[in-house]
Amino acid sequence: MRVLISGAGVAGPTLAFWLRRGGFTPTLVEAAPRLRTGGYVIDFWGAGFEIANRMGLLPHIRPYGYLVNEIRIVNDAGAPIVSLPAEVFADATHGRFISIPRGDLAAAIYASLDGKVETLFGDRVVRLEQSSSGVEVGFASRPSRHFDLVIGCDGLHSGIRQLVFGEEARFEKYLGLKAAAFAVPGYSPRDELVYVMYTQIGRQIFRFALNDGSTMFLLTFRDEDPAIPPNLAEQKALLRARFAGAGWECPQILDALDGVSELYFDRVSQIHMGPAPDAWSRGRVALLGDAASCVSLLAGQGTALAMVAASILAGELARANGDYARAFARYRQRFGPFILAKQKAATRMAGFFAPESSLSLFLRNRVMRMMGRPWVVKLAVGRSLVDRIDLSDD
Ligand SMILES: Cc1cc2nc3c(=O)[nH]c(=O)nc-3n(C[C@H](O)[C@H](O)[C@H](O)COP(=O)(O)OP(=O)(O)OC[C@H]3O[C@@H](n4cnc5c(N)ncnc54)[C@H](O)[C@@H]3O)c2cc1C
Repeated sequence: MRVLISGAGVAGPTLAFWLRRGGFTPTLVEAAPRLRTGGYVIDFWGAGFEIANRMGLLPHIRPYGYLVNEIRIVNDAGAPIVSLPAEVFADATHGRFISIPRGDLAAAIYASLDGKVETLFGDRVVRLEQSSSGVEVGFASRPSRHFDLVIGCDGLHSGIRQLVFGEEARFEKYLGLKAAAFAVPGYSPRDELVYVMYTQIGRQIFRFALNDGSTMFLLTFRDEDPAIPPNLAEQKALLRARFAGAGWECPQILDALDGVSELYFDRVSQIHMGPAPDAWSRGRVALLGDAASCVSLLAGQGTALAMVAASILAGELARANGDYARAFARYRQRFGPFILAKQKAATRMAGFFAPESSLSLFLRNRVMRMMGRPWVVKLAVGRSLVDRIDLSDD
């Protein structure tokens, strides 16, 4: 079967990897002219870690991974007000935990395809016509082609979802926050292997030093208006306005933003496609990853979960012997309830990334302070560190 996968982020190449193993012929189409390697440092554990292990990725991602020593919350003057030994998370997951820049993980997954999967960079699907023999796919800048199946792995703002299922607004649940991530070369201070956090009511900055000498920043802030500024200059202007007057290193970070050419800037949103058994598929077309069920960065696990979903969908397609409708239904049945629980848990984390009031900021810091004790970690986040999903068939 020839399968067109729209989107070469995390879900797309993972699906391509598993489909090839199952004897399918995947083709990737990616809107960007090359693999997008931006994004903040993500934590990687649970079922996603297991999938990476099965893909043989661990030796390739460990060299890019970080064993974070400390999570530190600082005040206006940069003095620590909370210092949490980060190994509590590694201990709670028995060492199956890694912190890695999203871009390095995405690059490692793509590299695992070994150049054996055709990738159409700089293009997108603009038309889909389904028939009993397959799907006729129209592209923006090349002749149309015929595929047996099409899978939309094109993220939160999925083009395939828009074409086949309808307007984004029908499915997107905006969580009232925006997020921006960028890297700056030669920034100082560095605080190697420390996640440094500075929080005020409604806004927060993370800083983390990378091995290549650059420093990553993740900025989150509350914003009632869901609109995303249309270009880099206006996105930077919004960040400057929202972080104006903040203490700590904020003026220096906003200055550093001037030279940034690659900025990840997006709404913090979830995608909910509804409870129907066929909510993620229409005939020969299905959705996967953020396109189907974005959990948002509040879950801290979106990337790993996209890999799990890809492995499940590929496993079901391989077992279905051509009965793709059955495979899509099984994928939804197995992954749907699991991801819904993750989405619910994530919405409770908004106060962590941008507390709404001085009381919620105070309580957040109190909980963080107590998390130095393993039993508190287990109580506070233990459930989210264990993924209850059966992958034994995949
Ligand atoms: C550059 C980048 C940086 C990110 N940084 C962060 C971050 O700092 N924190 C965070 O929580 N999440 C971040 N994300 C989102 C995160 O990667 C996803 O939540 C998660 O990995 C799920 O993966 P996915 O493959 O479903 O979506 P994504 O990783 O978003 O991949 C989707 C891919 O589809 C491509 N695409 C989009 N539209 C089309 C189209 N119409 N046709 C073809 N291709 C298309 C995109 O260019 C992208 O490569 C980032 C995503 C990207 C692309």
